[in-house]
Amino acid sequence: MFLFDAHVHTAESSKCAKWSGAEAAEAYMRKGYSGIIITDHYINGNTRADRTAPWEEQVAVATAGYKAAKARGDEIGLKVFFGIEAATDGVEFLTYGLDEEWLLAHPESAQLPMKEYLALVHSEGAFVVHAHPFRRSRHLRCMHLIPGGVDAVEIVNFGNLDVDNNLAKVYAEAYDLPMTAGSDAHNFGDIRDFVMGTETPIESVADYIEQVKQGSLILPSAELKA
Ligand SMILES: [Zn+2]
Ligand SMILES: [Zn+2]
Repeated sequence: MFLFDAHVHTAESSKCAKWSGAEAAEAYMRKGYSGIIITDHYINGNTRADRTAPWEEQVAVATAGYKAAKARGDEIGLKVFFGIEAATDGVEFLTYGLDEEWLLAHPESAQLPMKEYLALVHSEGAFVVHAHPFRRSRHLRCMHLIPGGVDAVEIVNFGNLDVDNNLAKVYAEAYDLPMTAGSDAHNFGDIRDFVMGTETPIESVADYIEQVKQGSLILPSAELKA
C-alpha cells in the first residue's frame, strides 16, 4: 500500500502553519509516504500573503510553500502536488486541478461567494472536496452544507473531534458523495502514520481525483480517528 495525504499546509503560504514546505516533504518521506498534496490557505483564507500587494505577489506567496515542498520532494523521492484550501462564506473547500497560471489569470477567484466560487472552479474542471464540514468554529459560525456543489467530502480530518468526523461520514453516505481523509497538518506534531492508502502510487492530481471518484482510496475509519 502507498501512503498519501491530500491536506497539508506550509509556513511559506499559510499563516497558521509552522513547518516549511521542505520540512514537510522531509517529514512525510521519513514516515514512508509516497506523496502529498500541499493545500495552503488561499488568498480568501488564512494566507500569509499581503492582500494589498499586487495580485502576482499574492499568488507567489500562495504557491511558495508548494514550490519549496516540490523542490525538496523531487530531491528525496516524495511526490508533491498542488492544491488550495479556499475559504468562502465561512466554508473551506480543498480545490484540486488548478495551477499557478490559472490563479494568476483569475484574481476574482479569491473574492467570490460560495456558489459563484464553486461554479467558476468547476467550469475549469477543478475537483472540490468539502474540508471538515462539521468542524465547530470558535466564531459561532453556522455550518454550511452544499451537497450538490461539491465532488467529495473529507470524512476524516485529524484536526477534528470524532463527533465532527462521524457526522461528515453520515453526510457523505447520505448524499452518495465520494470520501477522503486529510491530516490538515500544520506542523511536525500533526503528521500521522496513516492518512490514506492507495494500491498504486498516485502520479498526478488527476490520478488522485480519479481514485477519489472510483472510491479506491483506503481510508481510516472515522471512529478510529483519535
Ligand atoms: Zn490553517
Ligand atoms: Zn487545512
